[in-house]
Amino acid sequence: MSYVDEVLEKIKKRDADQPEFIQAVTEVLDSLRPVIDKDEEKYRKLAVLERITEPDRQIMFRVPWVDDNGNVQVNRGFRVQFNNAIGPYKGGLRLHPSVNLGIIKFLGFEQIFKNSLTTLPIGGGKGGSDFDPKGKSDNEIMKFCQSFMTELSKYIGADEDVPAGDIGTGAREIGFMFGQYKRIKGVYEGVLTGKGLTYGGSLARTEATGYGLLYLTEEMVKCHGDKMEGKVVAVSGSGNVAIYACQKAQQLGAKVVTVSDSTGWVYDPEGIDVELLKEVKEVKRARLTEYAAARSSAEYHEKKNGEHGVWQYKVDIALPCATQNELDIEDAKMLVANGVKYVAEGANMPTTIEATKYFQANGVPFVGGKAANAGGVATSALEMSQNSERLSWSFEEVDSKLKGIMVGIYHNIDDAAKEYGMEGNYVAGANIAGFKKVVEAMIAQGVC
Ligand code: NDP
Repeated sequence: MSYVDEVLEKIKKRDADQPEFIQAVTEVLDSLRPVIDKDEEKYRKLAVLERITEPDRQIMFRVPWVDDNGNVQVNRGFRVQFNNAIGPYKGGLRLHPSVNLGIIKFLGFEQIFKNSLTTLPIGGGKGGSDFDPKGKSDNEIMKFCQSFMTELSKYIGADEDVPAGDIGTGAREIGFMFGQYKRIKGVYEGVLTGKGLTYGGSLARTEATGYGLLYLTEEMVKCHGDKMEGKVVAVSGSGNVAIYACQKAQQLGAKVVTVSDSTGWVYDPEGIDVELLKEVKEVKRARLTEYAAARSSAEYHEKKNGEHGVWQYKVDIALPCATQNELDIEDAKMLVANGVKYVAEGANMPTTIEATKYFQANGVPFVGGKAANAGGVATSALEMSQNSERLSWSFEEVDSKLKGIMVGIYHNIDDAAKEYGMEGNYVAGANIAGFKKVVEAMIAQGVC
């Protein structure tokens, strides 16, 4: 049995209750076969795959807090510090009822390779809680965040582990957590990224993931002898990534015709009105029904099982920006039948493995989230740099560095795929390029 299969088998047995983690590891290790097979004995002897698939540590803790009615609530907190071979652990905090250890492990594992691809010195980690911020008052959010940070603060630090936002954790939550860290530790340091601009945040961090996704997509489109101008785009989600993906796509001359949330989706053939979307989602924190009510060209559809949602329309580019496994094989077939030309993931693992393979088999250039959404963490690392030198860079400076990083990532993954005879397989290219750098550092640092 090959070394890759041996390790996959062990993980499937050991972590049988963590389907998302198994899915992520399978996807990565499968695409690393050409690299591993070439030097199998070396990698086996050093147990490189066993080490890279086992977190350095996984921390789970109780998060007790008092709601507005005086009732004590208890949530579960997580921080998985996966790999710090190339820098301090770095990765977001997800607040969503679906959060469990397997989901945090899958995200932390993916983060190792994504962070490596940015070319910046950051390791991989992820955290969060099964706390549901929806419907909670600001006071309840603050109580939760303070309690969460009271425990988390024992394990993080500017040179150790630097968490950031993710689903459910935006500027408000980062602010409450930063305040509590400062209070407990008595130090003012860049321990979190995604901070407000008045206390160490970076300009362009809010826009970074969505903008970065479009910078990479634009480069891919260009390298296929094509242009963004006039392209019709389907975006899913209507959170941080989706909003700024819509904005940049439209700045580049494309037309975005869909957005969605967990209860439904909007089809707006005139093109999404980004200012209205921001008002509904960032200011009012309301449902997309409010967007549709305010715009005559928009249709709102309630989500029903088995429907294709935003993936049923005739578009040139599909950008899944909501959550994991939201684009399955049936959606992929529909998109391909409708002539989709490019797919790039704004979210983490939004496309199932079967759907990814279907795009690839049908010659649709497909870039996975590890590469395509790396702009967020790359800009977080730029925020860390600014905090360390106690300076703030202009929006233009950060944005132009972000663009350079994303264009560089596209060429890096394209070259890696070519080097191993898999031209155009950007999923394999991203895994290979990310893996090689981390493993070289791990081997240089000995068995640890
Ligand atoms: P937000 O919380 O801002 O937005 C998430 C969006 O996805 C919301 O519109 C939400 O709808 C929707 N959504 C969540 N769960 C589901 C579901 N089960 N079905 C359909 N829609 C759903 O998160 P972000 O925009 O920050 O993150 C989106 C994705 O991008 C995640 O996978 C995240 O890990 C990834 N990512 C984010 C980065 C960042 O910088 N923010 C960086 C790199 C990756 P609703 O409002 O109804 O919940």
